[in-house]
Parts: sequence; structure tokens; C-alpha cells
Amino acid sequence: MTDAKQFMEEITCPSCARTGHATWQGEAGSKRTLIDIGGGFDQRADDANPGFQMIVCTECGTTQPLQASPALTPH
Ligand SMILES: [Zn+2]
Repeated sequence: MTDAKQFMEEITCPSCARTGHATWQGEAGSKRTLIDIGGGFDQRADDANPGFQMIVCTECGTTQPLQASPALTPH
């Protein structure tokens, strides 16, 4: 059985301001898994943090860490 929830989060490239979206499964702000990413972004392993993933802007190649967004933390 599973009660995992899915939710989307907007992604903005810090360099070229391109926007895309990521679809997560799990709980916002805590344990969650990236299950889909789109809108011109891709994901790849973070070499500096084994086991973690990074978001890569396919437009300019800028990377940003995948991390819980405070804005999505349930209150
Ligand atoms: Zn970019």
C-alpha cells in the first residue's frame, strides 16, 4: 500500500530565468523523490554530494541543487 502524494514545483534557472517544473512524490519539505522534470530542465547526479541530484538547465547548463523548498513546507 502507498499513500505517497505527488506535487509539482516550479523551477527557475538562476542564470537565464527559464522556468520549468518538477514533479515530486512524497511529502513537501521532507522526504520526497523527484519522479519527473520538464520545461527545459534535466536532472543529473550531484558529484559533490553522492546520492543527491541536481537540476540542470538545458538552455544554459546552469545547475542548482534539488532541495526542499521552504515555500512548500506544510504549516
Ligand atoms: Zn538557464
